[in-house]
Amino acid sequence: MAVEIMSGTQELAGESDLPRRPLGSAMKRGLACRCPSCGKGRLFSGYLKVTPVCAACGEDLSHQRADDAPPYFTIMIVGHILVPIILAVETAMTPPLWLQMTLWPLLALVMSLAMLPMIKGAVVGFQWARYMHGFDPQGDADDSRLFFATPNSEAGISGGAAR
Ligand SMILES: [Zn+2]
Repeated sequence: MAVEIMSGTQELAGESDLPRRPLGSAMKRGLACRCPSCGKGRLFSGYLKVTPVCAACGEDLSHQRADDAPPYFTIMIVGHILVPIILAVETAMTPPLWLQMTLWPLLALVMSLAMLPMIKGAVVGFQWARYMHGFDPQGDADDSRLFFATPNSEAGISGGAAR
């Protein structure tokens, strides 16, 4: 039983003859909105649109499946930064309600818009470094069907909601 679990884990972790990709630098390059492979090419061709191929090194970045992870992490981080500040300001100064109703949503919006591409870059860097989804040349190119709906499986789990 234990042996079975071990071999399954190794398979998932990508224990193969593929070259090791450093996770830290890939995620740092992603945070800087750069290609996780070379760190030079731009990761995005729009605000959040990942460029299909890196212009600097030719790495195929179309395999990324960041989906809902970047907004999830963005909401979590922005909330953890803002909520203590809001509580501290309310306790210390009790500013008028109109000011708080203007300031906090605006600050949350600006912070979220600023952080979203960086966090998406880090998620793409993580997926690239760990050979997830189509980044694994030895894997099943259609492994995304396990988690996400493909055009051929309209009745899939996430449907069109992820877009
Ligand atoms: Zn590159």
